[in-house]
Amino acid sequence: MAVYHGPRCRQCRREGVKLMLKGERCKTENCAVERRPFPPGARQTKRRRQATEYNMQLREKQKIRRIYGVLEKQFSRYMDKATRSTGVTGEKLLQLLEMRFDNIVYRLGLAPSRSGARQLVLHNHFRINGKKVNVPSYQLKPGDVIAVKEKSKNLEAIHTALKTMKDTPEWLSIDKVKLEGSIMSIPERSAIPVDAQERLVVELYSR
Ligand code: SF4
Repeated sequence: MAVYHGPRCRQCRREGVKLMLKGERCKTENCAVERRPFPPGARQTKRRRQATEYNMQLREKQKIRRIYGVLEKQFSRYMDKATRSTGVTGEKLLQLLEMRFDNIVYRLGLAPSRSGARQLVLHNHFRINGKKVNVPSYQLKPGDVIAVKEKSKNLEAIHTALKTMKDTPEWLSIDKVKLEGSIMSIPERSAIPVDAQERLVVELYSR
């Protein structure tokens, strides 16, 4: 499975926003966006990029892609799927990304970040409807039950993440004793806390 292995904070600095890619660290003053609020390399080159329409569309696409930790090819497959489905394409795109297995683990509070969730999924710590699945991009649907595997119930990483979790989204439910979560519905755009203009991404792909 291909994933980005470079410095994550650099991605946030490139987009000029906190993409929250490192869990708890993102909430501290050690956050690179707060310490160095300028794009990587900007000091050296003093380069100014023109805010063209294309640049704005590209930046929004990169922002969303980086938030969910997917590579270009995979992102364009999500875009294809969203375009072919009924409804608002931009919203559909975000919904597809939200229903990824690694994202759901993160949203349930069972991992501190999406990359942490991806690791846990890859290492087989969960079951979906009682079945073994270790594919981070696995597409979940309403009614699915995600449970921490019996042998992994004492895993410190999961309990630490759960303790710091504030609110579970209304479209998900979690039983913190059983370490089991379920998907109640597909979230509407207003329930997806992603500060991005997906409309610009749709425009980019319709060029
Ligand atoms: Fe981004 Fe988190 Fe790094 Fe801050 S600490 S730059 S939000 S990944």
